[in-house]
Amino acid sequence: MADKNGKHGNASSILPDRATRGIGLEELVHVFWVSGMSCDGCSIAFAGASNPSMEQLQWGTVPGVPKMVLHHPMFSEDAGDAFIEPYRQAAAGTLGAPYIVVLEGSVPDDESFPTADGFFSSMGAGGFGPTPGGDQPNRVTEWLYRLAPGAIASMAIGTCATWGGIPAAAGNITGSMSLMDYLGKDYRSTAGVPVINVPGCAPVGDNFSETVITLLLWLRGVGYPPVFDELGRPAWMFDQTVHRHCPKAGYYEEGVFAEEPGDNQCLVEIGCWGPVVQCNIVERGAQNHMGGCMAAGGACIGCTMPGFPDKYAPFYKAPPGSAISGGISKVYGGAIRRLRRMSMKTGNREPMWDNADEIPSPWAAAKGPRTNTDKFAAYFYKKLQYNGSTHHGNRYKKQPLPKSRDILTQKGVDHSQSVDVLREKVRSREEI
Ligand code: SF4
Ligand code: SF4
Repeated sequence: MADKNGKHGNASSILPDRATRGIGLEELVHVFWVSGMSCDGCSIAFAGASNPSMEQLQWGTVPGVPKMVLHHPMFSEDAGDAFIEPYRQAAAGTLGAPYIVVLEGSVPDDESFPTADGFFSSMGAGGFGPTPGGDQPNRVTEWLYRLAPGAIASMAIGTCATWGGIPAAAGNITGSMSLMDYLGKDYRSTAGVPVINVPGCAPVGDNFSETVITLLLWLRGVGYPPVFDELGRPAWMFDQTVHRHCPKAGYYEEGVFAEEPGDNQCLVEIGCWGPVVQCNIVERGAQNHMGGCMAAGGACIGCTMPGFPDKYAPFYKAPPGSAISGGISKVYGGAIRRLRRMSMKTGNREPMWDNADEIPSPWAAAKGPRTNTDKFAAYFYKKLQYNGSTHHGNRYKKQPLPKSRDILTQKGVDHSQSVDVLREKVRSREEI
């Protein structure tokens, strides 16, 4: 997590030195996508990634990045045995090429009971040997412990895979857990990398695709080691709270809060946990740099965090701490906001309008002469603003009004028939 100055305090790169890896990532890398207790939302998120896109990775068009051969339950053209065959090869160590394992969805506790008792999650059938035998479904849990040790990296995409997520919530009967919980704290890939976690429900697709290329560039020896935090998250994506970059943060600071969903203001009083949640969706956008929770009017429910969902429930109820910070913000923010409106009002006038004491705008909302209060406040504000400097406002007072100002009136053009059709539609800054 970055400190108040944005410095990475405990972010760490525990990755081994490049020279020790020797994994031969020249041409291509296979990616074996495994779906556990999942809704497939992470697949959709990855399909929507744009920088880089899934297609760019598969076509190998990102300079320096090996081509990605994606084996995916939804996106692969192959089905049945033809689809499963490369998984078998990888599990048997006969693939002959480097590969990454990606888990979407959480890991059920299937390994804790006999195969004959069934499973919560499976992929393919017929065992894990070189040739399929029978039609008994293959548990996802077994794929994972067979594939992960031989992978150059094991990545968890989405909050279910990174921290257990919704399938691991209180009351679940599946014993669901994260990939990190399942593989254990001693797990390292063949390149020496622990499980990499890209959380979110669903995650930002670009967060995942960017992590993939950053990792691959480093593994190929043409990029710097990525910096991960203490939970294996890409630190440059998850080191800030969502609140710090939220488009509504200015409302929070001025103490203006939404009362119901759809209101434009800060959403903390209707359940936003943004001030304590590490997420970059407001900077990155949900898809193609567009959207994202607050940009779309949604309060943060902490979906990227290991405590999600239980520690953020009930959703859409104001977090207890917000009463203190929000209350303080209302008091000092209310005062600050009023002072800012006065400055904004002054800045919304040409100096010439002050000299003429009139605004020549036909727009209905444009206010005419300034009030004495405006002038009084502006006087003291300018005193401070220009302290030790040239007071351009005073200089401008000596500026003569242009002679051709209001030329149509001077030329006798008759405006009496013009109609102000927008009068009812125009709102003043104060009304907005
Ligand atoms: S909407 Fe949430 S994240 Fe945005 S400013 Fe308000 S509390 Fe912070
Ligand atoms: S802002 Fe909150 S709810 Fe939205 S993606 Fe980020 S962590 Fe999840």
